[in-house]
Amino acid sequence: MITIKSDREIALLRKAGKIVYDTHQYLKPFIREGITTRELDRLGEEFIRSQGATPSFKGYEGFPCALCISVNEEVVHGIPSDYQLQNGDIVSIDIGACYQGYHGDSAWTYPVGEINKEKKALLEHTEQALYEGLKAIHKDGHIGDIGEAIEKYALNYHLGVVKELVGHGVGTNVHEDPDVPNYGKSNTGPRLRKGMVIAVEPMLTLGSPDIYIDSNNDWTVITDDNQASAHFEHTVVVTDDGCEILTGE
Ligand code: MG
Ligand code: MG
Repeated sequence: MITIKSDREIALLRKAGKIVYDTHQYLKPFIREGITTRELDRLGEEFIRSQGATPSFKGYEGFPCALCISVNEEVVHGIPSDYQLQNGDIVSIDIGACYQGYHGDSAWTYPVGEINKEKKALLEHTEQALYEGLKAIHKDGHIGDIGEAIEKYALNYHLGVVKELVGHGVGTNVHEDPDVPNYGKSNTGPRLRKGMVIAVEPMLTLGSPDIYIDSNNDWTVITDDNQASAHFEHTVVVTDDGCEILTGE
């Protein structure tokens, strides 16, 4: 069921989103060679709790940590570990925070030290693909408008579009209806209504878009060809003249 949020709910979602944004900003200076992904997870969880919120993903369907941290060929749902970030890595950090019952959800992929030009292009274009998707949001438009914009942009730059994983509604649950695919056709899918809150989250790859789930932990999604993948996500509310980003500044 797709719900339209009240002004009171949107205010709480805005607060949750701000905590997620602030957590990203807090973590940024720590993202460098030598830090373990477990340490980033600990710092992120501590910060989220210091803001009076709880990490949305901890315990979600049994996920063991606060943040999803996915390195290089890992697409999403990476489990923080003793892996130490290395110069040239890219690291996707997906953060969810719940404030007074309402969630915010935002992922960002960061470079570690100096990255090669292919990875640089992947980050730049996946971030832009997110904004292309957000630009396609208009009240009384359709969910398919978003996917078409993202897919078109990605294919223009010969990037793979992961299709098995999609964006989603956000509210009192971190994952709600509707699904928000990163592909599709404009004028198809559910209507976008003012007050709908959705997470838009392109996951693009340098090579094939095909993925598998790591059988060692049944969580981590990895590209089939082991090429790098990036993930950029904002939670937004549909407004009269487009959308407002809830997980931004
Ligand atoms: Mg997320
Ligand atoms: Mg999400």
